[in-house]
Formats: sequence, structure tokens, C-alpha cells
Amino acid sequence: MSSPTLELSSIAKAYNKGKENEVTVLRDIDLSVELGEVVALVAPSGAGKSTLLHIAGLLDSPDTGQVKIAGQDMTGLSDRKRTAIRREDVGFVYQFHHLLPEFTALENIVLPQLANGISSVAATERAEDLLTTVGVAHRADHRPAALSGGEQQRVAFCRALANAPRLLLADEPTGNLDPGTSDQVFGALMELVRGTGMSAVIATHNLELASRMDRQLRLDGGRLLAL
Ligand code: ADP
Repeated sequence: MSSPTLELSSIAKAYNKGKENEVTVLRDIDLSVELGEVVALVAPSGAGKSTLLHIAGLLDSPDTGQVKIAGQDMTGLSDRKRTAIRREDVGFVYQFHHLLPEFTALENIVLPQLANGISSVAATERAEDLLTTVGVAHRADHRPAALSGGEQQRVAFCRALANAPRLLLADEPTGNLDPGTSDQVFGALMELVRGTGMSAVIATHNLELASRMDRQLRLDGGRLLAL
């Protein structure tokens, strides 16, 4: 059997350690996300969702505990190796799209592939396929400022998946959109994720969207519990 895509064991994290304003954000977190599994992370603002996603995606380190991606222990790896794993194996999506404003939608999806050594022809073909999947192929040549909020997020999803990562980490990916748009844009994200068989952890406030994922967890007092 293959290793889980993501395995967190006994993760703890506090900020301002040893000071009077010390805040413990995560306590003894265990999480295993299997191949192709999509996990919803539901919690109010300030509960530690971003901290957990940043630790899972190697953007931050836990105080204690272990992060494994595809069976490989990330503890003690050099910054260079962590950066390489993050680039190849992990895709991030945030509430705001963070697309590069001076490039078109298509170019925003091509660029990370070129940085990963993919040829321009193959990268363009993949970018066009991804844009078609999320229904914005007709906007390929537009810059982000000319796109609607929902279109911008769809393009950001394509960019996050451009290098076919094993794991998608999304921090309230539809949090900026009105409810109707949010529903459709979330549908596009699920189509991409299910189409590639990747694993995902998606933070959301929206219980209806959470119910469309395979498993629902919540953060409460720094602990990860079933919703
Ligand atoms: P969420 O994503 O659920 O809104 P965060 O993970 O961003 O929560 O934050 C969890 C808690 O940790 C909050 O109380 C926040 O103020 C605190 N926090 C986050 N980052 C830092 C930091 N760099 N320094 C101090 N406190 C922080």
C-alpha cells in the first residue's frame, strides 16, 4: 500500500514562546491524508488553520512533531531540499489569488512549469487544458485585472496545480466570493482535484462546501477533532 500523501504526528506550535503573551496554537495534532483524499478543515478565524496549513506545506516549522510527505520525513531537511519539495509536491491556494498582474492568465500557469524545467510547448498545452477544466479557457489572454473575482480564483487553482503536486493546501479558497460564485468556483476546484487524484486539505468556514469533501475536521483549542 502506498504511504499517505501527508502525515502529521504530534505537531505542536506556539507563538511568542516564553513571553507573557505566549499563545499555543496547535497541540498534539495527528493527521493522515490518504492518496486522493480531500479533507475539510473547519474552524473560526484565529483557530490556527493557516498555521496548520503552513506547517503541512513546509512554509513554517512546528515546535515539536513530525511532517511526512509521501512517506518522507521532512524533519531536519535543508532549506534547499524543503523548497524543492514544496515546489514539486505542494500546491497552495489562498483567499486572494496572488496572480502576477503583468502576465496573462495563461502565462501565470505556464511560468511555474518553466521554473520546474517543463518545455514551453508542454507547459502551454497543460495550462490550456487546466483552464478548459475550470471553464475559463476563453479568458486565457487576459491579465488578472480584467478577470472577475471568480475567474481570478479559477486561474489561481490552475497555477497551484500546474506542476501536478501530490498535495493541495487551500486556505479559504472561496472566502472572498459571494455565495453563488463561491459554490461554482468550489465546484471547479473539486473537478481539478478529483481529475488528478491528488490529496487536499481545504480550510473553509462554509459547512455546505465542507460536506462535499471526504472528511470534515475542526480545530478546537489547538486540537484537531471530527466536525
Ligand atoms: P486562522 O488561519 O485559523 O485564522 P492563524 O493560524 O492565522 O489562524 O492564527 C492562529 C493564532 O496564532 C491567532 O491567535 C494568531 O493571532 C496567532 N498568530 C499567527 N501567526 C502569528 C505570529 N507570527 N506571531 C504571533 N502570533 C501569531
